[in-house]
Amino acid sequence: MAFGMGQPAEFWLGQFDQCFLGYAGDEEVRRGAASGGAVSAVLIELLESGRIEGALVSRLRPKNGRLEPETWIARSREEILSAQTSIYLDFPLVPHILRMKELAGRYAVVGLPCQLAAVRRLERKHPELAERIAYRLGLLCGHATKRRLLDRVLQKKGIPQDQIEDFAFRRGHWRGRTYVRLKDGREITFPFLHFGIYQNLWLYCARRCLACEDHFAEQSDMSFGDAWLPELKSHPIKHSIFLSRTPECSELFHQMLAKGMLVGEKTDPFTLIRAQKRSLIYHKLNIAGRHRLARLFGMRVPYDGPHRARWNDLVGAFFFLLNVRLSRSDLWVDLVMRLPRPLLYPYIAAMKLTINF
Ligand SMILES: Cc1cc2nc3c(=O)[nH]c(=O)nc-3n(C[C@H](O)[C@H](O)[C@H](O)COP(=O)(O)OP(=O)(O)OC[C@H]3O[C@@H](n4cnc5c(N)ncnc54)[C@H](O)[C@@H]3O)c2cc1C
Ligand code: SF4
Repeated sequence: MAFGMGQPAEFWLGQFDQCFLGYAGDEEVRRGAASGGAVSAVLIELLESGRIEGALVSRLRPKNGRLEPETWIARSREEILSAQTSIYLDFPLVPHILRMKELAGRYAVVGLPCQLAAVRRLERKHPELAERIAYRLGLLCGHATKRRLLDRVLQKKGIPQDQIEDFAFRRGHWRGRTYVRLKDGREITFPFLHFGIYQNLWLYCARRCLACEDHFAEQSDMSFGDAWLPELKSHPIKHSIFLSRTPECSELFHQMLAKGMLVGEKTDPFTLIRAQKRSLIYHKLNIAGRHRLARLFGMRVPYDGPHRARWNDLVGAFFFLLNVRLSRSDLWVDLVMRLPRPLLYPYIAAMKLTINF
């Protein structure tokens, strides 16, 4: 059975207009980015061309002795760049969206698939909000993690949160590195994988992610993610994949490519599907297995989609549900985090194998 399972590209990506592969043309924009900097490049273009007054963005900042998500309207290139990289934590966007009713002008919003679905619902309920929000930029999303995991990883690294001045989850090539700057000026960096390995075990995964079918931010105007394509692993510049869902956004991408603000090309939807194969299978197929097995773990995973759980969906679902269930116990997580990382790789590889087809 070939990947794709006879499903049209829209089954995996949602309705779309065009697909692209590339990166921000400006090296400064790429430097602090999670992927190829395409999100920030687009926000800067929207702002500088006068299409928007600002963009709702988020970053992690030290507050009251610990790192806290901060969401605000960035109104300059510098502010947009200060919000670069991904925040792999679960935090609410809705209160900030509701406050946008009070503003004048038009804005862009950056959010996860579930956040943008909430934005669309709010826009239907409050038409004045729909007038404020001109562009919804979606981030592809495997799953979000409760902040407890970040606390535990920093603790394991011996990094006191009350000494942190600046933090970036992930910058640089392929999976990248995590960056921490302390108040005394010291800089600490470590492979993102030191957080990512536990994230890949679904430890402290936000519960609603088990029931999520949307990987590509299907309610966005444009979606952005990592280009996990083996042929790009040795490329010196990290690429993004991105797609437009309206002709207007396709036109924007083409204008930016022509001006060199984005470097890259239009591509076919199956390149994007290939770049996100496992995450797509997790969201679109494995969910049928999670739906079937959730009750065994005292959970509920609603699903009324077309897919019937196969053996590998059930095996994979068992692992995902088990790990989420076990990470309710800090003692269990302690034990896992004490294990040498190489011991965890075979388990993760087995989990990934179940969502490989
Ligand atoms: C929880 C999470 C899970 C993800 N899972 C995947 C995945 O499975 N596969 C994949 O390909 N990509 C995933 N991504 C997206 C990927 O990490 C990059 O965010 C995306 O490719 C954009 O990179 P960029 O270099 O273009 O953006 P950048 O130039 O780095 O800009 C990122 C923008 O996103 C905003 N932002 C970051 N985190 C959040 C957040 N949590 N909520 C709202 N806004 C935010 C920032 O404010 C900034 O404006 C995930 C991101 C998050 C936050
Ligand atoms: S996996 Fe789905 S529910 Fe979870 S944070 Fe991502 S978009 Fe939201």
